[in-house]
Amino acid sequence: LHAAYDPDNIFAKILRGEMPAVKVYEDEAALAFMDVFPQSEGHTLVVPKGVEARNLLDMPTEKLGAYMQAVQKVAKAVEAALTPDGLVVTQFNGAPAGQTVFHLHFHIIPRWEEVALGR
Ligand code: 5GP
Repeated sequence: LHAAYDPDNIFAKILRGEMPAVKVYEDEAALAFMDVFPQSEGHTLVVPKGVEARNLLDMPTEKLGAYMQAVQKVAKAVEAALTPDGLVVTQFNGAPAGQTVFHLHFHIIPRWEEVALGR
């Protein structure tokens, strides 16, 4: 959980413009883009800008407020655009927890009610 930040992680490259991404929102604190392997239609990732934070634990507390406001803004935009029935907003800390990219990110994953098959 407390390893050094690798500045060559994929999201750092996206933030520096060295890797393409389908960007959907950006402000001073955060960048949001579409997940390349979406778990549902509209699966979006929100990453903090200007910080070397691998996970939530080493995110500077004074930068958390502006970042989380961006997370909520993107969640509201996804909800407005796709009108899902539910929205997963989540993040993982450390490989054993399921983290695979080591720059802090929140997932925003729309969910829809199962359509009844009538049998
Ligand atoms: P984690 O398990 O670390 O929370 O999830 C990392 C997420 O990043 C996964 O959902 C994965 O699909 C996504 N991802 C991995 N590589 C790329 C990439 O190059 N571009 C984008 N947009 N998403 C990526």
